[in-house]
Amino acid sequence: MSIADNLLKYKKELEDSSAKLVAVSKFHEASEIMEAYNIGQRVFGENIVQELVDKQAELPKDIEWHLIGHLQTNKVKYIAPFIALIESVDSEKLLTEINKQAAKNNRVIDCLLQVYIADEETKFGLSFDEVIELLRSDNFQNFKNIRIVGLMGIATNTESEKQIRDEFQELKVLFEGIKLSYFRNEPSFKELSMGMSADYKLAVEEGSTMVRIGSNIFGKRVIKHFKAE
Ligand SMILES: *Cc1c(COP(=O)(O)O)cnc(C)c1O
Repeated sequence: MSIADNLLKYKKELEDSSAKLVAVSKFHEASEIMEAYNIGQRVFGENIVQELVDKQAELPKDIEWHLIGHLQTNKVKYIAPFIALIESVDSEKLLTEINKQAAKNNRVIDCLLQVYIADEETKFGLSFDEVIELLRSDNFQNFKNIRIVGLMGIATNTESEKQIRDEFQELKVLFEGIKLSYFRNEPSFKELSMGMSADYKLAVEEGSTMVRIGSNIFGKRVIKHFKAE
């Protein structure tokens, strides 16, 4: 199946759900992204800043880029001018820098707080307690150039459907609680980004509004720098 075929399959499958498709194009070439673009896909996710910046410069300007990987504070400045959504905010320090760089660019940058839900040590993210702590902090009230529009989480890479479902449910419960307590009057707080190639079906059933699908659309990733040819 071609990239276009894969994409059309997902579009159709997600049509009746509330989930929007983020096509995760990391490690794939600009030409492959164009194949998706040419049949109407506009939302793409990348996880490495340098790769994202190079692709943004090269590709059509109406692409909505999401950063989905861990972001170092010293790299925020490179994406602040154009990024549509930073899905991977995992500290107050990072948020402070995003706010600062957004202000420099006269922008308000949409962000998701990445919440740690997996039973794995390698995954970045805030704990449930840290999310609450962050939202209650004095600092947070002063961030005028960021808008928190929801939460993101990555489930454990496991065969256990029950475990994955439990993790998505926990995130959904946190999301609803936070919405009531901190964003009651902000309809823009509405995104729950969960689900990847292996578990998006479960995620959609558990209330995902944004699935991040890479390998099922673009094929297996070859780990290399994307321009290394
Ligand atoms: C790579 C990545 C994805 C996509 O993973 P696939 O298994 O290829 O669909 C989704 N979310 C994040 C945070 C990623 O880093």
